[in-house]
Amino acid sequence: MRKPLVMGNWKLNGTKESVTALVNALKAPADKAAAKVDVAVCAPAVFIGMVEDLASGSKLQWGSEDCDVHTKGAFTGENSPTMLREFGCTYAIVGHSERREYHKESNECVAAKYKAAQENVLIPVLCVGESEAEFDAGRTMDIVRAELKAVIDLCGIESFKNAVIAYEPIWAIGTGKTATPEIAEKVHADIRAYLASFDADVAAGVRILYGGSCNAKTAPDLFKQPDIDGGLVGGASLKAPDFTAIIEAAE
Ligand code: 13P
Repeated sequence: MRKPLVMGNWKLNGTKESVTALVNALKAPADKAAAKVDVAVCAPAVFIGMVEDLASGSKLQWGSEDCDVHTKGAFTGENSPTMLREFGCTYAIVGHSERREYHKESNECVAAKYKAAQENVLIPVLCVGESEAEFDAGRTMDIVRAELKAVIDLCGIESFKNAVIAYEPIWAIGTGKTATPEIAEKVHADIRAYLASFDADVAAGVRILYGGSCNAKTAPDLFKQPDIDGGLVGGASLKAPDFTAIIEAAE
């Protein structure tokens, strides 16, 4: 059985004050849901130490929005997986479409980050998904398969025993255009079938989250789908009542 995971991705948002209020407000809902749902927030690196202090002792988990491939050295501006682990991160998002677009991260680069995260005991959350033009052209699975294949080639199918996948159609991110439960479920099932062509047990066990305008209204029907194991939530994760409602939808 796959335990649902509801994860916030704060992106480039937050102040000391808002982070304090948000984490404090999420501890009780995370504790309440913990038997049934894993709850996590991924924060800008500069806030991760604060999140660790605030969330320690609760069931709320946390992670980073990215991680470097190196553990240390002359790589100005980066955050290494060992540093993130030292600050209690459980997860590292890798390959978010905003990193792929604005930082020109290739499938191979993302796979290397996934590998570095796993080697340093972080659970990579591998984001995959197609653009609107690719969706319109019916190319969704071509894109998603290539993103998955780069990881399989570098790390092996077995690596998905200790990873999370997030399907995030780029046209749904921050647009209010949530994928319908039917569209999302079809892609999630296709992802699982693709992984099953390498290893059926691994495919059956891996958690696949949906992301893209997932909110308190859209989450309940999305989470009812058999292959959707929770959500990766952007905007709605910044508001405690909305994120709490999404957590409850996964319980
Ligand atoms: P929104 O929920 O704001 O659409 O963002 C989704 C996302 O990119 C999460 O990683």
